[in-house]
Amino acid sequence: MLKIENYIGGELVTPASGEYLDNFEPGTGDVYSLIPDSDDRDVNLAADAARAAFPAWSSTSPEARFEILMRLVGLIERDLEDLARAESIDNGKPISLARAVDIPRAVANFRFYATAAMHLSNESYDTVRPDGGRAINYTLRHPIGVAGCISPWNLPLYLFTWKIAPAIAAGCTVVAKPSEVTPMTAFMLSKLCIEAELPPGVLNIVHGTGPKVGSAIVAHKDVAAISFTGGTKTGEEIARIAAPMLKKLSLELGGKNPNIIFADCNYEEMLATTVRSSFSNQGEICLCGSRIFVERPLYERFKSDFVARVSALKVGDPLDSATDVGAIVSKQHFDKIMSYIELAKQEGGTILCGGHSIDLSAEMPIEAETRPVGSVPLGAPTPHSALRNPHSNGWYIQPTVIEGLSHDCRTNLEEIFGPVVTIMPFDTEDEVIGYANSVRYGLSATLWTENLSRAHRMAAALESGIVWINCWLLRDLRTPFGGVKDSGVGREGGFEALRFFTEEKNVCIKI
Ligand code: NDP
Repeated sequence: MLKIENYIGGELVTPASGEYLDNFEPGTGDVYSLIPDSDDRDVNLAADAARAAFPAWSSTSPEARFEILMRLVGLIERDLEDLARAESIDNGKPISLARAVDIPRAVANFRFYATAAMHLSNESYDTVRPDGGRAINYTLRHPIGVAGCISPWNLPLYLFTWKIAPAIAAGCTVVAKPSEVTPMTAFMLSKLCIEAELPPGVLNIVHGTGPKVGSAIVAHKDVAAISFTGGTKTGEEIARIAAPMLKKLSLELGGKNPNIIFADCNYEEMLATTVRSSFSNQGEICLCGSRIFVERPLYERFKSDFVARVSALKVGDPLDSATDVGAIVSKQHFDKIMSYIELAKQEGGTILCGGHSIDLSAEMPIEAETRPVGSVPLGAPTPHSALRNPHSNGWYIQPTVIEGLSHDCRTNLEEIFGPVVTIMPFDTEDEVIGYANSVRYGLSATLWTENLSRAHRMAAALESGIVWINCWLLRDLRTPFGGVKDSGVGREGGFEALRFFTEEKNVCIKI
């Protein structure tokens, strides 16, 4: 069985413990590869390598970093199909999504920051004192040192590279940890880094669990900044360790995003987009809108059309190009989502569609060829007969729409992070703003209206870091990305991320 390895000091290495963890394929429920069960010894080696590489890497010109990062871009593009397939197997997401979104976005992340580093400028200030004397102030930005990057399982390579690319482009060296649940494309990336001749130690990838590897990165004395994306509870734990060490922190955390639909919206566009914003990636995107508020005159029409469209989504083998909704990432997460569906029923919700898991093996043709565990090599073509395993025990949930719940019940306050949405009617702008803002989270909000004044009014009133109006997940990598309240601290994207990985120094010269 394939053994994933750590990437430390430019080499692929086994974990100090010699121990490995099982890596499951969500589509089948089977173990298909092994992940290093690394610990603080591996993190120490990675931090040593990163510290040793820092003086040389931080002194390279932005143009030199551009050249290397663009080599990586070319290699990821070359291997796009292999990476997409690996992401689909590892995470359970439809391969069509991995092909169209996840891997192209990893390419975009490296390309964007390869070029951005060449455009980062520093400010200068012409200072005029009250006595007429003058001074010039200018601000230097130096790479902060060794950065720790920790990412989640939902968009594995996409979010991993969203941190690594700006850190490296800014001149930092990195100790990174992908989620132990989805380590495969990070492992593949480490091989591409070797091929791209990224200098040893610039990027180090340590695989393993959050409590062992993640917390060792956070607590390491040589790691000056932590860029983390994941759950709010984990973010709090990281802040508890890093804040007293006075480390720089960027925390991108959970969400419970409202999707607010007014009766004057462009109905067809709203409907198609709302299906996507609810159930893309099995609803496992931090930006998915899980609380759908519909203006009362439109409510019944929306309910019937939405439920019809959602019921028609094809839940299936992640590797089947026709699949709309794949497998839930892990058994543990599957159980969590199912427990929330039970909670919604207990809280008086009515399940309009879904509400149950699916045994995909029951739908499989008897003659279908079994896919032996771990037997399909990465990069191999996927014949249709190999797509399905009659003995499948994957984790599938039918997309679920629930109505009849109050805006302040637990189902509507807590993050479920799965293919489950609630729909609720509202009458006035003030009322729906109150509902939208009633959660502890504030990552993103979606708004559908053709009324321009209302759109601006609502955008200003919504407590969230991102507001999509008449669209969803329309990304421009230059824009600030992040949440308010319990959804995080700091912003990623654009120059914000490059600045995060640098330390400012002001120089004042009296003339
Ligand atoms: P977790 O918080 O469980 O894990 C995120 C990462 O942190 C993983 O690599 C995990 O390791 C690691 N980790 C776990 N415990 C610690 C610790 N004590 N110290 C350091 N690192 C640790 O999140 P999930 O992976 O479950 O991801 C889902 C969450 O991520 C959702 O809440 C979602 O909203 C949020 N998210 C936020 C986004 C945003 O931009 N705001 C974007 C995407 C997701 P391991 O898994 O290996 O144990």
